[in-house]
Amino acid sequence: MKVITSIEEMQTISKSIKRDGKTIGFVPTMGYLHEGHLSLVRASKKDCDITVVSIFVNPIQFGPKEDLSKYPRDFERDKNMLEKEGVDYIFYPKVQEMYHSDFSSTIIVEGVTKNLCGASRPGHFRGVTTVVGKLFNIVMPDKAYFGEKDFQQLVTIKKMVRDLNFPVEIVGMPIVREDDGLAMSSRNSYLSEEERKSALCLYKSILLAKDMIKSGIKDVKLIIKGIEELVNNTPNTRIDYIKICDPETLEYIEEGDIDGKKLLALAVFVGSTRLIDNVILEG
Ligand code: AMP
Repeated sequence: MKVITSIEEMQTISKSIKRDGKTIGFVPTMGYLHEGHLSLVRASKKDCDITVVSIFVNPIQFGPKEDLSKYPRDFERDKNMLEKEGVDYIFYPKVQEMYHSDFSSTIIVEGVTKNLCGASRPGHFRGVTTVVGKLFNIVMPDKAYFGEKDFQQLVTIKKMVRDLNFPVEIVGMPIVREDDGLAMSSRNSYLSEEERKSALCLYKSILLAKDMIKSGIKDVKLIIKGIEELVNNTPNTRIDYIKICDPETLEYIEEGDIDGKKLLALAVFVGSTRLIDNVILEG
């Protein structure tokens, strides 16, 4: 496994892999890896000849009051984990390598970025699409792997690729959870013991919604009310959003019964840590 820090070197390597007729699978991450990330790596290893993982905490997707400076980092640990998985290249650029001092071009995907996290975190998806677009130009992957954990991100990247004709196939992978159901996230490391218990309210919300539908309660308002009660009765929590929406357009469904496949998406602050989760509900 080789660690590459230069954009030029990564591009040279990717071109030579392609010249040899081999396929490149790509897993973009912000590091502090867990089994969720590794599930993407394993899918890439299975599908593609060469697997590239990027580790880059992308400053432009963090808001001014967000956790950029304290975002967890441990490159040596990540490197060991990726080496064990048989990854071929880690792309690990410095911020100055990715954003030169007069950097001024961005990619904006409209529509699907308007709601959910796009509404709570202005500028976040512009940061995500810009860095992912850059990484696609640097790594030149045939396939790129993203988790459904960040459902809106996945929808947004698929839209960007289709709208702007990036020659890459986007593969979405299911959410990997801890044994008790908490969706794995690098940010879970922020949680105190008490908060870790409270964090389970996100998964419990998903189970509650599924149970309600199973018992014949499909009304969107009732389901959201049930979840609000559950979360509000959990210590250390503050709801950012609880929404049911169309899984393709991410437009909110505010009333009526759940009919067909709909996305339930939640963002909840547990202490000062903002956690997200989602599920496709079937009415
Ligand atoms: P991050 O390092 O948080 O930017 O995540 C990198 C990639 O891993 C994204 O595509 C995430 O959606 C994905 N990912 C993060 N957590 C999980 C999880 N629990 N299950 C599946 N994929 C995940």
